[in-house]
Amino acid sequence: MTDDSPFLLARPNVDHALAGAFVREHWRVEGEVHELGSQQDRNYAVTAPTGHRVLLKVHHPSTTAGEIDLQLVAADRLTDAGIRTPSAIPARDGSVTLPLVDGDGVVATARVLEFVEGSSLADGGAMDGAVAERLGRTAGRAVAALAGIEHPAAERGIQWDLRRALEVVESLIDDLPPERRDACLEAARDAAARVAAVADALPLQVVHGDLTADNVMRTPQDELYVVDLGDVGRSWRVAEIAILAGDVLARTESLAATGRAVSGFAAEAELSDDEVDALWPLVVLRGAVLAVSGWSQLRIDGDNDYARERVEHEAAVLNLSSAIPHDEATAALRLALGRPHRRDVAYAPLVDGWDAPVVLDLGITSPQLDEGRWTEPDAETRLARDARPASGVAVARFGEARLTRVPWDVSAPAAARARIVEVWAEPAAAVRAPFAGTVSVVDDSVELRDRGVVLRVDGLEPSTGDGPVAAGGIIGRVARDGAGLRVSRRIRSAAPSAPFGGPDDEYETDAAADPSPLLGLVPAPDPTVTVREARVARERAMGGASERYYAEPPQFERAWGTRFVDVRGRAYLDLVNNVTAIGHSHPVFVDRVTRQLRLLNTNSRFLYAAYARFTEKLLARVAGTRLDTVIPVNSGSEAVDLALRLAQLATGRREVIALREGYHGWTMGADAVTTSAFDNPAALDSRPDWVHLADAPNTYRGPHRGPDAAAAYAAQVAQIADRLAAEGRPAAAFISEPVLGNAGGVIPPAGYLPAVYDAIREHGGLAIADEIQVGLGRLGDAFWGWQLLGAEPDIVTVAKAAGNAYPLGAVITRREIVDALRDEGKFFSSAGGAPAGAVAGEAVLDVIEAESLQENARVVGAHLRHRLEELAARHPLIGTVHGTGLYLGVELVRDGLVPATAETADVCERLLDEGIIMQLTSERSNVLKVKPPLTLTREDADEFVDALGRVLGAL
Ligand code: PMP
Repeated sequence: MTDDSPFLLARPNVDHALAGAFVREHWRVEGEVHELGSQQDRNYAVTAPTGHRVLLKVHHPSTTAGEIDLQLVAADRLTDAGIRTPSAIPARDGSVTLPLVDGDGVVATARVLEFVEGSSLADGGAMDGAVAERLGRTAGRAVAALAGIEHPAAERGIQWDLRRALEVVESLIDDLPPERRDACLEAARDAAARVAAVADALPLQVVHGDLTADNVMRTPQDELYVVDLGDVGRSWRVAEIAILAGDVLARTESLAATGRAVSGFAAEAELSDDEVDALWPLVVLRGAVLAVSGWSQLRIDGDNDYARERVEHEAAVLNLSSAIPHDEATAALRLALGRPHRRDVAYAPLVDGWDAPVVLDLGITSPQLDEGRWTEPDAETRLARDARPASGVAVARFGEARLTRVPWDVSAPAAARARIVEVWAEPAAAVRAPFAGTVSVVDDSVELRDRGVVLRVDGLEPSTGDGPVAAGGIIGRVARDGAGLRVSRRIRSAAPSAPFGGPDDEYETDAAADPSPLLGLVPAPDPTVTVREARVARERAMGGASERYYAEPPQFERAWGTRFVDVRGRAYLDLVNNVTAIGHSHPVFVDRVTRQLRLLNTNSRFLYAAYARFTEKLLARVAGTRLDTVIPVNSGSEAVDLALRLAQLATGRREVIALREGYHGWTMGADAVTTSAFDNPAALDSRPDWVHLADAPNTYRGPHRGPDAAAAYAAQVAQIADRLAAEGRPAAAFISEPVLGNAGGVIPPAGYLPAVYDAIREHGGLAIADEIQVGLGRLGDAFWGWQLLGAEPDIVTVAKAAGNAYPLGAVITRREIVDALRDEGKFFSSAGGAPAGAVAGEAVLDVIEAESLQENARVVGAHLRHRLEELAARHPLIGTVHGTGLYLGVELVRDGLVPATAETADVCERLLDEGIIMQLTSERSNVLKVKPPLTLTREDADEFVDALGRVLGAL
C-alpha cells in the first residue's frame, strides 16, 4: 500500500493564522480561531468578540469545483425540503467559494458557512432509541430530498461509496494491525457477496453519504441540522441508512435501537425487501471500510488527533456487526420495520378466537379511566373483561404507559410501561406458534425461536415438550381462570426483562423488543418521541419569549385532584397550581362546563342565566361591603387593565402608585404597574411616567423590619400621594396584592393596608386590590387578602382560580365607578363571562363552598406551615416560611439574608425527580411558591415536606 492511494488524503496544510487572516480579508470577520476535527478537510470556527461565529471550511485540494457545486446543490435540496443545513455566507465580493493557497503552495477551495450552535447528537449524551429513530427519520427525509439530483460530479468514486467497499478494504487491508486482517477481509468478502446477490435491485441516487450522529447537530431549541456534505455523491439509496445503522449499533450495542433508526428511515423513505436484505451486509462493509481507513489515515496523517481518537470507535461497527449472523440481524431489522422476520412467512394467529382482537386503551388518556378510575385496584381486569368479545380476544399494547399502574404515591415511580403485549382470551383456548421454530418450555411459559427471534408466552398452560413446532402448532392453552397471556420478544441471546418498565427506562431493548409485528398489532408510541415532538413544535410555534416550566419538562396529558400524570407514566403531586384551585378535573366542574358547552356558548352580550348566576354568587362573596358591581373578563391581565382604566376614568386622573417587586400581568396597563425583576429584569427602569413606586412591605428583608415597619412603609406611600397632590397631579389609584403573592406570600405588617388605603383616599384616589393569586379562600383565615389585612378596597381583580384554569376573570367594584366607564362608551369583552366561562366560575364558587375548601386551606395550610417550620429548624437554608393557608413561600438563604438563588432552582429540579411540582418566585428567585389546589390533603402536605427534606438533605 502506498501513500498515493486514491482513497487516502491528508488534510490541507493550513494553520490558525492563515485561516484567521483569510476570513478577515474576505469575509471581514475577525475573531478567535479554533480548529474543529475533520478526516480530510480543515474546519475552523472563527468567533468574533460579539460572540457571533462562522465556520471556515477548507476543502482538500483534490476536491473539484464540480464536487463543491454538487454539495451546494445538495444543500439547497435539503433546505427546500425543510431539513436545516448550514447556509453558505458569501464573501465580500459575493462569491460563495474562494481559492486559498495553503502552506505548501497548493490551492485549496475555501468557504464560510453559518456556524450551528449546539452539540452533535454524538456529543450530546447517550443515544437512546428515540434519538436513533429521529436520526433515521432525518436520514430518510434527506434521501427523499436528494432523490432525483442529476449532477455531472455525482459519480465520485470516493472511498465512502459502499459500492467500492470491498475494493477499498482489499487495497488498504495492510494498514490494519496484522491480527485483525483475516477476520476483516473474510467478513467484508462474505458481506459483499450477499450484497452482490441483490445489487441489481438496489436503487441508486445522490446520498449524503455520512449521515451519522457526528454530522447531525442539535440546537438549544432542539432543532436538528444536517452538517458536513463532504461525502455527498451517488451510491445505493440503502447505503444512507446502512451507514447510520452502523453508527447507532456502535453507540448503543443494541439491535433494537438500530432497528429504531431503520424504521425511522423507512417511515420517510420506503425500503424494498431487497434493500432490507442488503442492509446488514452493507453495515458490515461500512464497518470494514471504517476499520481500515481509520488506521490508514493515521499512517499518512499521524498528527490528526481527530482520526486517532476515533480509530477504536471506527473498529466497533465491524466488530459488533460481524458478530451477528446476517439472517438474525436481518430478521430483527425486518421486525423493526413491521414485516415478518423472514421474507416468505405469514404468521398464524397466536390464540384461537384472535380474529380482530379488541385493543384496550389502558394509557394515560384512556377515557375509560377518567375521574380517577385508574386508582381502583382491579381496573385492568375489569376493562379487559368488559371489552373482550364473547369467545374473542382483547389485547393491551406493547409500550403503553398504563395509567392503571401509576401509583397515587408519587415518591416512587412505578413500572407502568408495558414491555409485553397482554392477551385476554377464552379460558382453555388453544395457544399456537405464530411461526415454525424450536420450542422450549419452563413452568407456565413457552419460548419459540427462529433466526434469533425469541417469542415468549407467559401465563399459559403448556401442552408441548421441547423441540420443533410447525407454524400454527398448539403450544399450550389459555389458563382456566382467563388471566391474561403475557407475550414478549427478545433478540438473539438477550436475557428476559421485567414485563413493565419505569418512566425513565428505554422504550425497547434487545431484552424487551416489541412482539407486535409477530401478532399483527400496532404498538403504542414511544413517549420520549412524543415529548420531544411536542416540545419542538411548541418552541417552533411560539418562539423564544414564551415561558415554560423546567429544563426537561414532563409532558402532562392528565391530572386528577392534586396529581398530574405524564406520558411516561409517572405521577406528580401538584404544589404550584393556584390556578386549578378546586383540583384537577373536578367532576362537578367538568360536568357543568361540558353540559354548558353542549347547550350554549356564545358572545357575552347575549342574555343567558349563567352570567347572572356567576356574578351574583361572586357578589355574595363581598356581601357587607360597598362593593356591588361585577364585570367578567377573560384573564388576570385584562382584569387589572380594566381596574386601572376604571380608576383613571372615575377620578379623571392618570397617576398610579404601585409596589416594587409586584406582578400584575402583561397587557399594556397591567405591565405598566408590574415592577418585578423576576419577570422583566429591566422593569424598574422602563415603567411609564404615570407609575410611582413604593417599597414592598416585606418585614423579613425589606428596609423596615421592626415593630414600626407598618407605619414606615405606609408613610412612604402617603409621601408619594402627598407629593403627587402637591404637584397638581394627584393619584388615581394605589394597586397592590394585599398579600404579596409574587414575593412568595409575604404578609404585610398589621395596619399597613388600612393606612395606605387611607392615604390614597385622602387625596381622592382609589384602592385596587389584586386578588388574582391570593383570593378566593386560599388564605384560609379569610376569603380575600384585603379581609385578612382589614381594609376594604374600591376595586378588586379576580382571575386564575376563578375559572379553575378556564379563562375567566372579573373586576368587582362599586356602581359609581363603573358608571364612569359607561360615559366613555359601553364596555364588553366577548368571551368574558360567556356561558361556559360563567358556568365555570359558578362551579368554582359552589365547590369551594360545598367542600369547605377555605377551611381545608386553613387546616391543611396550618399543618403544612408547621411541618415546614420544623424543616426550617433542621435546615439553615430555609430562612423563613412566608404566607398563610395554602399560599406559602419557603425562602431559601445563605449567610443571613443572601438569596440562595441557585439552590432554589436546584431544589425545584430535584423535587421534580421526587415527583413534586414546585416552582420558584420572588424578586430574587429564592422562594419556593407553595400554592397547591385547595383540595390538598394532610397526607399530600406530608408527602411534599418529606420530599423537600430529602432534597435539602442531599444538597
Ligand atoms: N395579577 C397577579 C397578582 C398575577 O399573579 C397574575 C398572573 N401571574 C396576573 C395578575 C395576570 O393574570 P393572567 O396571567 O391571567 O393574565
